[in-house]
Amino acid sequence: VVNRVPLIAGNWKMNLDHLQAIAFVQKLAWSLADAKHDAASVEVAVFPPFTDLRSVQTLVSADKLPIAFGAQDLSEHDSGAYTGEISGAFLKALECGYVLIGHSERRTLHAESDEQVAAKVTAALKHNLVPIICVGETSEDLEKHGPSAVPVAQLRAALSGISATADIVVAYEPVWAIGSGQAATPEQAEQVAAALRAELRETLGEDVAAKTRILYGGSVKAANIAGFMREPNVDGALVGGASLDLNEFSSIVRYQK
Ligand code: PEP
Repeated sequence: VVNRVPLIAGNWKMNLDHLQAIAFVQKLAWSLADAKHDAASVEVAVFPPFTDLRSVQTLVSADKLPIAFGAQDLSEHDSGAYTGEISGAFLKALECGYVLIGHSERRTLHAESDEQVAAKVTAALKHNLVPIICVGETSEDLEKHGPSAVPVAQLRAALSGISATADIVVAYEPVWAIGSGQAATPEQAEQVAAALRAELRETLGEDVAAKTRILYGGSVKAANIAGFMREPNVDGALVGGASLDLNEFSSIVRYQK
C-alpha cells in the first residue's frame, strides 16, 4: 500500500505583494507551530506571485519553515526572447518545489492550449519542478459530456510528453466550482479523481498511479475540507480564495477526517 502524503496548496493568484507575502508566510508558520503541525502527515504549500518568490524563499530557508512553495505558471522555454516569461530554470534557482500548470484561469484568460500545457509539464520536469497539472470541466462540458470526459482528456494531453517515472501532482478543479462558493460534493470529486487515477494507470503505469497525489480544488474551505479528504482518491486540496485568509487556511490544513 502506497502512503500518499496529503498536500494542501494555496493558490494566491494575483494577491499579496512581497511584503504581505513575508508577513503571511511568517504568520502561517507560527500558526502551524502552535498547532504542532507534523509536515510528514500533511504537506503545506503556497503559490505566490512571481515577484514574491525570492522573499518567500529567503524566509523559508532562513527559518527552515515547513512550508513548500512554487509558482503559478512557467514558460515552456528555458531562456531567450520571450518578453515577460519566466523559465523553469529561474524557478528552480529560487528553490521552488512545485509549479501550477494549466490553471483554468490560464486556459480561459490566456487561451492556453492542451499542447502548451503539455510543453510546460515537460519543461517543469526538465528543471526538477513537480508540476501540479490542473484539469477541470466547465458546466457546459458537464452537461454535454458528463463528469469525467473533459478532465481525463486534458490530463491525457498534458501527459503526452512524459515518462513513466515522472513525479507529478494532478489537481481536479471543476471550472464551475472555482471562486463560485459552490464546491463539488465529495462524491463528485471522488468520481472524477478515480477516473483520473485510472488514466494515470493506463498512461504511466501502476506505480505512478499509486503514488501520484490528486487534489480537489473549487471553493474549498474549512467547513468542507474534511468531506473531500475522506474520499480514497482525493489526496489534498488546491485552495484559492480561502488560502488568503490565515485562520481559514490554517483550519483547512488542520482538517480532521
Ligand atoms: C483555484 O483557483 O485554484 C481555486 C480553487 O479557487 P477557489 O478556492 O477560490 O475556488
